[in-house]
Amino acid sequence: MFVRLACELTKDSIVDGEGLRTVIWAQGCSHNCRGCHNKSTHDFNKGILRNVDDIIDEIKALRLQKGITLSGGDPFFQPKPFIKIAKAAKSMNLDVWAYTGFKMEDFLYKNIDNKEDILNLLNYIDILVDGKYEDDKRSIELSFRGSYNQRIIDVKKTIKNNNIAIYDKYINEHIGFENKNNQFMNLAL
Ligand code: SF4
Repeated sequence: MFVRLACELTKDSIVDGEGLRTVIWAQGCSHNCRGCHNKSTHDFNKGILRNVDDIIDEIKALRLQKGITLSGGDPFFQPKPFIKIAKAAKSMNLDVWAYTGFKMEDFLYKNIDNKEDILNLLNYIDILVDGKYEDDKRSIELSFRGSYNQRIIDVKKTIKNNNIAIYDKYINEHIGFENKNNQFMNLAL
């Protein structure tokens, strides 16, 4: 099985989730967020095709990483290979974060392409940073996200309760921005 990536893996990242992480950059994204900093990752035909087993071998060889992060592009346009990668990472006791331009509600409640595979992929993800990047909501004070409409979601809690659950460590940050900007952000707290 192959996965289309934007570039090689980034090791030792401290900005794509908690702790020292290895980032896997998916190629392909059609969200077209205004102000996107990764435009070269949009084309679904560009990037590099990598064998998933080779990626898993690379992950096995990692040292001192807390986890892996699926980013892009948007990894949710290629759920099948990322299921295999995320599942392997979990079996190595690595945690899995993922970024998407979709909203969690799209996965849970809408009839989107590859829904079954996407729901299966979510079984192997601990934390999801969801939502499009919105340039007018950008802040450099935010943890692990570019704009304050994006949410750091506890995936297991969300699925268990069938209700969006913000990762509890960042609830205050989410509330702070909600108050500061005086607007409703559909947080299920
Ligand atoms: S989801 Fe990410 S890669 Fe895709 S357009 Fe938005 S910011 Fe860019």
